[in-house]
Amino acid sequence: MLINEELECVVCCYEYSRSDRVPRILHCNHTFCAPCLEKLSNLQGVIRTVSCPLCRWITCTQASLTLPGALWVNTDIWDQIAVEQQKNQESMKDLKKTKTQLIKSTIPHSRHAGFMSTLQKMFSCVLQHKGRMDTFGQSNRRRIA
Ligand SMILES: [Zn+2]
Ligand SMILES: [Zn+2]
Repeated sequence: MLINEELECVVCCYEYSRSDRVPRILHCNHTFCAPCLEKLSNLQGVIRTVSCPLCRWITCTQASLTLPGALWVNTDIWDQIAVEQQKNQESMKDLKKTKTQLIKSTIPHSRHAGFMSTLQKMFSCVLQHKGRMDTFGQSNRRRIA
């Protein structure tokens, strides 16, 4: 799976969101926002077809189903939107907190930990590299000792 998947729709260049621009996956595994998919879809009798703008694969769904009912949400992007929204909420809450309640400093700290784990996920290749460097350093130390 792609880890650093773009968080914006390549058709309209708007960022995905959990409300207006839900990221949905076509059968070719390409993801676009729901409004663009609506525009791309063609109703042909009892089937609705969506031609992928990237690979031209035709995704067929039942006309009786709405696109949200027929296509999966891209959960990778969905999760990353959640992180983005949490970050925004967090910074807004933090601003309020620093003004009003400085005592509850433990709550933003735990949120920060969650955010860090997401960062670690996103930059896992960097961390793996760092891990290799650490092992290398340890073996060096052992050799010296
Ligand atoms: Zn779009
Ligand atoms: Zn495609």
